[in-house]
Amino acid sequence: MKLQFWGATDDVTGSMTFVHLQSGIIMIDCGLTQGTQKSEMLNHLELPVQPKDIKAVIITHAHLDHSGYLPRLVKKGFRGAIYCTPSTAQLMRIILLDSAKLTEEDFYGQEDVQATLKLVRTKEWHQSFDELEALITLMPAGHILGASSIKIKTLDKTIVFSGDLGRFEDPILPEHPICPAADIVVMESTYGGKNRTGNLEKELHSFLATIARESRVGIIASFAVARAQMLLTLISEFYERHPEEKVHVYIDSPMMGEANRVYRDYSHLTRHPDSVFSALEKFDLIEYRRERESLSRKEGPLIIISASGMLTGGRIQSHLYNWHDDEKAILFLPGYQGVGTPGRDFIQGNRQLIGPDEEPFTWQGEVWTSEQFSSHADQNDLIRWVGAENKNAQIYLLHGEINSKLALKSELQNLGFKSITIPSRGEVIDHKNIN
Ligand SMILES: [Zn+2]
Repeated sequence: MKLQFWGATDDVTGSMTFVHLQSGIIMIDCGLTQGTQKSEMLNHLELPVQPKDIKAVIITHAHLDHSGYLPRLVKKGFRGAIYCTPSTAQLMRIILLDSAKLTEEDFYGQEDVQATLKLVRTKEWHQSFDELEALITLMPAGHILGASSIKIKTLDKTIVFSGDLGRFEDPILPEHPICPAADIVVMESTYGGKNRTGNLEKELHSFLATIARESRVGIIASFAVARAQMLLTLISEFYERHPEEKVHVYIDSPMMGEANRVYRDYSHLTRHPDSVFSALEKFDLIEYRRERESLSRKEGPLIIISASGMLTGGRIQSHLYNWHDDEKAILFLPGYQGVGTPGRDFIQGNRQLIGPDEEPFTWQGEVWTSEQFSSHADQNDLIRWVGAENKNAQIYLLHGEINSKLALKSELQNLGFKSITIPSRGEVIDHKNIN
């Protein structure tokens, strides 16, 4: 068995790894590289294997950096099976159809997405299945709805891919199991060098209370899938406990509305199904342009949740434009803002954006940020996940900036883990000769 590393070796996007078995190739995740223009050029590189030679792809979760290259793979000749959980399949459909609108037509289009969706074969967690003489099992990974770790058992080796791991104390997803005993573990390391210190709910509550008590306008920039559903659930729980602080909340993102529906359909997979279900049908989705226009004349207190999460586009821009000269308005940016995005610029004090008629404007309101809203495991969570049973396993660290990987590596070494490798793009490791 050979492992061939490709994506997410140098940063946190574009996840792709190839497992070469005697009878063919299985691909783990098929993500787009996102971020700066330079990193997005990587999406145009030729893959190290022919798409038609890949027998199956297993998708850990729906995020674009894990699934967004699939239509391109299909366009280039892949015809095998795509395995994932049922809820991942639903979220992936929303994400890929949206992505086809944003990518250039020659990269992939709606018809490539449709062809991709036809290849999807859903598998429940713990329902093992055979592919290429290997026994494959998906297991819960926290992170977002449907997210999985993958276990592949061949005749002589057990290999586990973590996928993106969630925090063990996620506000809406239940605690996921730790990594089973394995010969090889390929794990993410996004927060390999960090432990969380703040309190997510407290930070959100102080925002909600300020909007209500001071009759202000609050705009929350959120990713449409996963982040938004967590925020809405927490907001709804807060209002139930503090009805006196309740203000009108508007959702302005069609994709958010669709993702809410999937979370409602699969609310049994969340920590508190009833509260997730009721939260996600409670708030008003803005569906028509005139609703958006009439909203622009309203006074606070009110809250708008819109995408994109890093201000790179989407309807949030028109709301920021509407209230840009209201010094009391608050823009809340929960979570990490990528390098080179307007969200990162806003945090650093450059608050210029382009308005609906292409005119530049400056946001004069406040900007509140929080690092607490990540759906990723922190260092303690990662160490707890890999577990005490895998100290002799060959461990590979992916999906993290180099400092995070180095920090996690040294922490694992201190704990007695024997073999930890940070692979590079294109590196092939033959596991016949080691272990
Ligand atoms: Zn993810």
